[in-house]
Amino acid sequence: MPIFEYKCPECGFINEVLVKSSDTKPPACPKCGSRKTEKQFSTFAAVVKEPAPPASNCQTCPNSGGCPNFSD
Ligand SMILES: [Zn+2]
Repeated sequence: MPIFEYKCPECGFINEVLVKSSDTKPPACPKCGSRKTEKQFSTFAAVVKEPAPPASNCQTCPNSGGCPNFSD
């Protein structure tokens, strides 16, 4: 089940909401009551893919000074 974050532009509060159906209206801010909360990308989907290491820092290569396979 996805968790959505709704950020309140009024007070900055981030409300984490477990979404049970696909069309849920943004909940009002529990802190200040604003209804202008904006949906953020869910932390679920934001699970970070490691960015590819830079060519000069190949981790499979024993050389610490840069991978010869990727030198340009
Ligand atoms: Zn608020």
